[in-house]
Amino acid sequence: MPKTVGVAVSHAAFHFDKLYTYAVMPDQQDQVRLGSMVLVPFGRSSRPRMGVVLACDAEPESARLKALFDVAPASACLTGELLELVRLLKERTFCTWYEAVRAVIPYGAQYKPALAADGVTPVLQKQLTRHTETLYRLAAPLPAKPRPTAKQMAAVALLSGGPRTQADLEAHGVSRAVAENLCAKGVLAAERVNKSIDLYAHIPPRTERLELTAEQQAAFDALAPHLEAGRPHAALLYGVTGSGKTLVFLKLIERCLALGKKALVLVPEISLTPQMIRRLKERFGRRVAVQHSALNHTERLLQWQMIQDGGADIVVGTRSAVFAPLEGLGLIVIDEEQEHTYRSESSPRYAAQEVARWRAAKNGALLLLASATPSTETFYEAQAGRCQLVRLTQRYAGQPLPAVQMVDMRAELAAGNPREISLALEDALRANLAEGRQAILLLNRRGYQTMAQCGDCREVLKCPRCSVPMVYHKDGGGRLLCHYCGAQIAPRPEVCPACGGKLQYRGFGTQKAEEELAALFPEARILRMDQDTTAAKDAHEKLLAGFARHEYDIMVGTQMVAKGLDFEDVTLVGVLGIDSLLFAQGFRAYETVFSLVTQVVGRSGRASAPGRAIIQTTDPDNPVLRLAAAQDYDAFFAQEIEYRKLGLYPPFCSLCIVSFAGKKEEETAAAAARFAALLAQQAARQPDIPLRVLGPTPGSILKINEIYRYKLTVKCRNDKRFRALLGQVLGLYEQEKLPAKASVAVDMHADGDI
Ligand code: ADP
Ligand code: ZN
Repeated sequence: MPKTVGVAVSHAAFHFDKLYTYAVMPDQQDQVRLGSMVLVPFGRSSRPRMGVVLACDAEPESARLKALFDVAPASACLTGELLELVRLLKERTFCTWYEAVRAVIPYGAQYKPALAADGVTPVLQKQLTRHTETLYRLAAPLPAKPRPTAKQMAAVALLSGGPRTQADLEAHGVSRAVAENLCAKGVLAAERVNKSIDLYAHIPPRTERLELTAEQQAAFDALAPHLEAGRPHAALLYGVTGSGKTLVFLKLIERCLALGKKALVLVPEISLTPQMIRRLKERFGRRVAVQHSALNHTERLLQWQMIQDGGADIVVGTRSAVFAPLEGLGLIVIDEEQEHTYRSESSPRYAAQEVARWRAAKNGALLLLASATPSTETFYEAQAGRCQLVRLTQRYAGQPLPAVQMVDMRAELAAGNPREISLALEDALRANLAEGRQAILLLNRRGYQTMAQCGDCREVLKCPRCSVPMVYHKDGGGRLLCHYCGAQIAPRPEVCPACGGKLQYRGFGTQKAEEELAALFPEARILRMDQDTTAAKDAHEKLLAGFARHEYDIMVGTQMVAKGLDFEDVTLVGVLGIDSLLFAQGFRAYETVFSLVTQVVGRSGRASAPGRAIIQTTDPDNPVLRLAAAQDYDAFFAQEIEYRKLGLYPPFCSLCIVSFAGKKEEETAAAAARFAALLAQQAARQPDIPLRVLGPTPGSILKINEIYRYKLTVKCRNDKRFRALLGQVLGLYEQEKLPAKASVAVDMHADGDI
């Protein structure tokens, strides 16, 4: 029985971060254990704060310890595996204890601080009061005599697809009386279950057998033994777009469940989730739990609770779902594994792959990374034999990959076409429309025009708070908007604030594309998908569902239209502009462009009709674009790995980005320089730790929301010794009180571009 406990307390600053020791009152002793959620008095005024018990001690350390206010019941404890993940995050990502705790319970604790009925005693209160509901399932066939009523037959037909709740049955016109009557006959069985909002109950079940193609079957056969072996194993499913990677996942999940194990499926973005959720729900129904940030708070907590109670066999979600408290994991799938969304950009700065690898090792599970354009690091691992490589080379429907044409936009302008939509693309769209087909157009800029430049002094109008150009948005009466801090200027200015010259608006965003398309094709139904049109809850899913029902002919949008979507009628894809990405910073820039172009081109011609794609660019000879147009990943990889080797980038080293943020530019720069000096000093004492330090340099966007940013790039080997060294330097930086001048953050997974 613990007498004292070490608690990770919420809202601790990094330099004060440690486990705080508290006394456990005798009446709390049999409740408290490792992983308990507790409420503790903190600081001089003993304000209540949330915490998690990370250490237990049987002997009291000192008589003057403060005592815990309250302890949550054992059911709310973090499981052993989650506790180990907390330690892993703390050790690997330089976060605080409680940041690590918050990461593993991404949607918040099940308990929150409150006051007892006396109005003074701080206590923990459950965030959700538990409700139960009745779940009906078929227990026996409906007897032919006495003749069943139409209502009874309807009820049985509904339930033949799987169990349903009373509310669900009522929504389908089956009253409670009918259901109860069938229970009395033994046809149905009823049970009380914890209410877990079945978020996607409207998705109809599908029971027909999945028939894999020969190639898919071969992939499955290569992977399934590793699922059965119960030993940790990593594999890469590298399959061209439309090859049916999802079908292979579904089969593996089926096998995984048959083995009595659980499966976790990660998807990169919420915009990709609807289709993956649909496919999983169709197959596996209520046993699928969903975790992503577009759910509301109650939904998230209920889903989490359902997972923790063992009510889910499959969890599908975005990055943070990698912490889902599933026990007995057999399979972890990371779809589109190269996506940057798997890397957290706020503390703890972890990569989902790293956590997944650890969990797979812990559980003896199969970790399956999947992509048409794997990250260079992963493919390198596969080539080196450290990760099994399984290929799918053909599209399911037997269609060839789309034929791709490049259009030189400089020539277009010279030939007198002032529009952003080239003549070639216009013709292709016209032909496609005439055939009753759909098209997807990618433009990675939202807004109308992307900048305002003075015709006299050439000054570009920047956000007053950020060092980026303001973007003109035509909606809402017209306004300039900063995409970083949200600052607005309306109405839009016409003269240069510096010299009074006339401002010229230029650049091309999704709003303008929509307008040009409407002018060219007045009869076409156009859907714009960007952050502005999809901000409302479920907007994404609704718009995509409308496009799937062919209520639109052309979808134009930002990167959210490029990936994962699977629509039969799409036979034309256009890339209106991604040139800005070609010149982006960071060592992954080429990989990102290659992947984005391949992905979007891959949306075309996935079903019965062949597809085509048109890429508009001002740099038609660009080698990365050329390889992407040819959809030749192997050639791209061969080139990219050479570049990484020559420049010493991952996978040939790890990149550690230390970033600094402060209110004053000189102080921020000076703090970054001091950090670099401290690092050099410490490193000199341990010269055998391989290390190369670049910078400090200003961030690629120097100022965001009045905060200046500097960075240090450290090429290193990410091992315990290096992390210990960096930990020492962080300690010294804090001892010198430098965080007051510039806060510091360490990211072991960044692209190098901050
Ligand atoms: P990928 O993820 O590799 O791009 P998908 O898994 O989305 O490809 O499959 C592409 C399309 O082909 C989907 O519509 C999918 O339903 C269909 N498909 C693939 N394999 C099969 C199969 N074995 N049986 C039926 N449909 C399939
Ligand atoms: Zn701004």
